[in-house]
Amino acid sequence: MYRLLLVSTLLIVLYFLLRQIFRTIRSPQIDEQGASGDHDQMVLDQVCQTFVPRRTALSKEIGGQLHYFCSSACMATFEKRHSATPT
Ligand SMILES: [Zn+2]
Repeated sequence: MYRLLLVSTLLIVLYFLLRQIFRTIRSPQIDEQGASGDHDQMVLDQVCQTFVPRRTALSKEIGGQLHYFCSSACMATFEKRHSATPT
């Protein structure tokens, strides 16, 4: 009798665990759909002062801030400039 109780408790725990896992899997998809509207937002390349669509721009986090670039050359230039300046 005790064994049956233990098994049923385990099944309930397992059910809640699975439900929580499915929820965490599903939630990022909803976030993606909500953010899809600004995929063609223009971002500024600080090296050549050109606006590039965020979808095609190269992004890199430098100094705790996310920067966007039109090309890898601009990214390299910015990184060189950033590392050259003393903090
Ligand atoms: Zn550029």
